[in-house]
Order: sequence, then structure tokens, then C-alpha cells
Amino acid sequence: MTIDNAINLAYIVAFALFIYGLMGLTGPKTAVRGNKIAAAGMAIAVVATLVSIRDTGNWFLIAAGIAVGVLLGIPPAKYTKMTAMPQLVALFNGVGGGTVALIAWAEFNGSHGFRGEPVYVVAGSLFGAIVGSVSFWGSLIAFGKLQESIPGRPIGIGRLQQPLNIALLIASVALAICIGISDGGSSYLMLAILCFAAALGLMVVLPIGGADMPVVISLLNALTGLSAAAAGLALNNTAMIVAGMIVGASGSILTNLMAKAMNRSILAIVAGGFGGTVTASAISEHGPVKATSAADAAIQMAYANQVIVVPGYGMAVAQAQHAVKDMASLLESKGVPVVYAIHPVAGRMPGHMNVLLAEAEVSYDALKEMDDINGEFARTDVTLVIGANDVTNPAARNDPSSPIHGMPILNVDQSRSVIVLKRSMNSGFAGVENPLFFAPQTSMLFGDAKKSVGAVIEELKAL
Ligand code: NDP
Repeated sequence: MTIDNAINLAYIVAFALFIYGLMGLTGPKTAVRGNKIAAAGMAIAVVATLVSIRDTGNWFLIAAGIAVGVLLGIPPAKYTKMTAMPQLVALFNGVGGGTVALIAWAEFNGSHGFRGEPVYVVAGSLFGAIVGSVSFWGSLIAFGKLQESIPGRPIGIGRLQQPLNIALLIASVALAICIGISDGGSSYLMLAILCFAAALGLMVVLPIGGADMPVVISLLNALTGLSAAAAGLALNNTAMIVAGMIVGASGSILTNLMAKAMNRSILAIVAGGFGGTVTASAISEHGPVKATSAADAAIQMAYANQVIVVPGYGMAVAQAQHAVKDMASLLESKGVPVVYAIHPVAGRMPGHMNVLLAEAEVSYDALKEMDDINGEFARTDVTLVIGANDVTNPAARNDPSSPIHGMPILNVDQSRSVIVLKRSMNSGFAGVENPLFFAPQTSMLFGDAKKSVGAVIEELKAL
């Protein structure tokens, strides 16, 4: 077997491992193994690529690049708290897009403005430059919003936003065509493309408000995949093409699913401006809230026909999932059935609640998707909302002026009694007031969710 055949064989093994690994990600039980399998595939692809450039590669630069990547990549991946994972994923995704933009820049310089390069190299590089740059800068904003170092509310320039975004897109594509048709494009033009695309990435993501971030994050992920596939074309690297297409395709499917879950069209989200902040008058309008105690919550649940638990981002922050499982087991031992209502965008990443509850060994059968559980709330005595807010907000259904209007929610307000566990009256990620907290059937158990559930468990034991 020649060395080239061996390299191709290694690539085929790597692709098979990517796909097999991806299949593992379809369920929490197999996800960790799936991740390891895909990582092994990537290691094989990297070694095969290094062998393929054995005579031409600059080994000093390659070693330096790997060292910098390892030094910068391992500590955050190892030490970032689970609750900060979504922003880390946004950052890593952005770095992928940025890498593709830099590859395009290097290709451009290495060939003196694509002089004499075949069309597919020029087109792949220019596509990668635009989409990679959009993805890098857009992901940085998504990171900032999730990290809450940038306000989650829409930040934009109003009516001029859309014309500006369209102008930036047209300018980037027009300059790319200029470079593409000239033999040896100017490096100023290439820099201008990268800058216009960067501005486009910033301008598209900044005006997108809280609740729509899940769609944007999956869209940026898909864009990074597509740009990587384009760079693979330019570099003639099959592994990059295949891995990029897998990310692009799965990211696109996820984007569609998330947009459907939010009842939004992708175009409407990218065109901008959902989500907002609460006004002072909105707060006072709803009147007082009713506080409750762990003892009262325990009594209500112990005598309920059924308890629906609605987990949200606060459960992840408090790491309350194990305590919640213990509380549910206690209730079940008293003959009270407990099920979990899972909203598709609860938490801060797709499948966030499923992962946490699977970690606490909650049976998969007890997890009910929104469409399956929504009819149940009206027949349920007690709904226990644990650190969820936006996904329970009836304004999304009832108030056309609400920034989250139209987003499907869990029908918690139809339950006979609602107990909400959170620390204060603060709003959720979308920054909007939740009238559910002021409803007559709702009482608030203030405090950290893990501590509150712990207190409820003690009271249940005493009953
Ligand atoms: P929200 O962000 O709406 O609300 C979470 C609530 O948890 C807060 O109101 C907070 O109130 C409470 N909380 C925080 N820490 C604790 C704690 N230690 N103990 C008890 N409560 C706590 O969460 P939801 O899950 O309801 O909604 C998810 C939101 O995030 C949606 O707007 C969604 O669009 C968005 N999003 C989702 C992504 C995804 O992929 N799933 C990605 C990006 C955004 P308090 O401070 O008073 O305690």
C-alpha cells in the first residue's frame, strides 16, 4: 500500500468514527462515549493530515500552533463550570470560524492574491473568509450575551439596522467577486472583505434579544461548519470538507428545530430585534406576590394527585438536579406521581435539562416534551417550577406587546397550584416580567433552588 492510500484509508476510518460518534450524541447515556469516539476520529484525521504534508510542512510552526492550542484550550475545557458551558461552546465555535477566515487570508497571501489558483480554491477561500469572519465576530457577541458581560436585550440602531446589514453583505460579496475575477487581487480588498464581514457578524447578533439566542447559536454553529467545508475545498483536504459538512448539516437541522420551538422564522430572527426589557410600569401593574414556606410546599405536594416539575436554568445554576430526584422519589414513595415538563429551550443549551436530569438518573420515561405535557397542567394539583422563568411566561401567549409573544410556553398557569422556586423577582434571560409569579394560584418559595428543595425534602420526611 502506498503512503497516499494509507492516508485516504485513515481519512475513511476517521469519517466513520465521526458519524458513529454523532450517533452516540442522540441520547444522554451514549453521549460521552460518542464524544470520545468522534475525538478519536479527529485525532486520526489530524495525524493523516500531518503525514500528508510531511515534505512541505513547516514543522516548527505546526508544533508552535499545537502547543498554543493545547495551552489555551485544555484549561477552560477542564475547569469551566457546567453552567458556563454554553458560552464556552459559543467561544470554541467562534474560534473555528476565525480559523477559517485566517486560512483564507493565508491562502490569499501565499498565492499573491490567488494568482493562477483554480476557481474552487478561490471560491472556497473567499466563502470561508466571509462566513468564517461573520461566525467569529457573531459568536463573540453570543459569548458576551451568555456571559452577561453584554446586556441580553437587543442592541441596535432601529430602522437603519436592516439596510445596514444588507449593505454590509452586498459589500463583502461584491469585493469577493472583484478579487475572484482579477488575477492577483489587492490585499486591501481582502482586508476590507474581512472587516465588512466582521461588522456584519456584530450587527446581526447584537440586535437579537434574549429568548432568540438559542436559534442564533445553532445558526452560527452551522455557519462555522460550512465555512470549514469551504476551507477544506481550498486546501484540498477531504477531512475538513467532510467534518465541516457534518457540522454544517447537523447545525442547520438544529437551527430549524430551535426556530420551530420558538415559533419564529430564521429570517425574522436574523432580521433582528426580538426580546426586550421590562418597564417599571409593567412590574407595578401585576400587584403583590405571595411567598410560601418549604413546609407548605411539602404539604401541598404530599396530597396532590400529581406533581409536574418544570426545571429551568436556575436548576442548573443551583445544581439542584440530585436533590430534585430525591424529592421526587420521596413523593413517589407516598403515592404521588411526579413527571418533568421539558421545554426545548429551557436552560442555556439544547438538551440542557435532559442532560442534568439524566446525570441525576431520573428515568427517561418521566421526562415529557412540551407538546405531550401541555394538556396535563389543567388536570394537575401542583406544578413545581424550579429556576425556570421565560419558558413559563404566559405573556408569550396572551400579550401581543410582549417581546417574547409567539414563543410556545409550558402551560404552567393552567395548573391548580403553582410553586415557584427562585431567589428573587429578577427576570430570566429574555429580561421580561413574568405575570405567572403574580397569579392567584402561584406562590413563591424564595431561595437557592438546591437549598429550597433540601428544605422541602426535610419537611416531606417529617410528614
Ligand atoms: P430563565 O433564564 O428564563 O430563568 C432562570 C431563572 O432562574 C431566573 O429568573 C433566576 O431568578 C433563577 N435562578 C438563577 N439561579 C438560581 C438559583 N441558584 N436558585 C433558584 N433560582 C435561580 O430560564 P429558562 O430555563 O426558563 O429559560 C431559558 C432562557 O434562556 C430562554 O429565554 C431561552 O431562549 C434562553 N436561551 C436558551 C438557550 C438554549 O439553548 N436552551 C441558549 C441561549 C439562551 P433569580 O435570579 O430570581 O433566582
